[in-house]
Amino acid sequence: MSTILDGKLVAQAVQAEVARAVAALRARGVVPGLATVLVGDDPASRVYIGSKERACAQVGIRSLGERLPADTRTADLVARVRELGARSDVHGILVQLPLPAGIDADAVIEAIAPGKDVDGLTAISQGRLLAGRPGLRPCTPLGIMRLLRETGRDLAGARAVVLGRSLLVGKPVALLLLEQHATVTMCHSRTRDLAATVGDADVVVAAVGHPELVRGDWIKEGAIVIDVGINRLPGGGLVGDVEFASARARAAWITPVPGGVGPMTVAMLLANTAAAAAAATREAA
Ligand code: NAD
Repeated sequence: MSTILDGKLVAQAVQAEVARAVAALRARGVVPGLATVLVGDDPASRVYIGSKERACAQVGIRSLGERLPADTRTADLVARVRELGARSDVHGILVQLPLPAGIDADAVIEAIAPGKDVDGLTAISQGRLLAGRPGLRPCTPLGIMRLLRETGRDLAGARAVVLGRSLLVGKPVALLLLEQHATVTMCHSRTRDLAATVGDADVVVAAVGHPELVRGDWIKEGAIVIDVGINRLPGGGLVGDVEFASARARAAWITPVPGGVGPMTVAMLLANTAAAAAAATREAA
């Protein structure tokens, strides 16, 4: 039976660290500010952005909520994001995804000033990650790496299998694992014999968005299982991408859904915002 990697607890610890960093900045007259941009009124996006804004308030980060109608034109949104980028009281810019159909999301993301890209999604941030240079990293992958650190396991030489190759999760987490010297295999929708590949893994990161795709009996005894998936069941309730109960019986460590990776994503957004504010303050000095 495995130990639960409790994302809520670890997120609380990260938030306490961020609150201390924010207090130090405020003592020097800098109030870290995060602009949260929501276009349209998708209910799930409203819930996500609301929880990010509440988390900001808890650690002393000022959030500036930008609400724009669903029929906003790409050019206007790009201009708004550039204006936020020019403001000295805005240290981070978060554009809630997905954007409504008809808006060119790539153009909007690329309008985010690299030093304020607290979601780590611009091509510059992703390129810096690939090159191993300092920069802002995407929040969910950062949260996953922090959870892995909690296990105390050395990742050097460990076999890590990442399911999913999105820019948001799969690709960046694979690069972060590589940075920690894991031997990384990436699986995706065309991968053959997923069961055998997963069965060889010391660390499994599942970020697919398919309920219980990873069967518990695929998991190697003693593996670490990080379940990123959030899947809503038709009858209500959430499940991850991994069959939790049977995987738990074999793994050494496993994240629950909900309460695993989800809270970490928000915590790392706060950490990135505080880091961006600290970097901007150093540059201005
Ligand atoms: P995405 O839809 O962009 O990518 C899904 C990936 O899964 C693709 O790369 C695809 O190739 C791969 N895939 C599809 N079928 C597969 C299969 N049978 N085997 C292996 N790989 C397969 O998804 P995303 O944005 O990376 O999100 C993935 C999941 O993680 C979703 O459930 C999403 O809700 C969740 N998510 C959670 C958080 C969090 O904070 N907990 C953050 C981001 C995403």
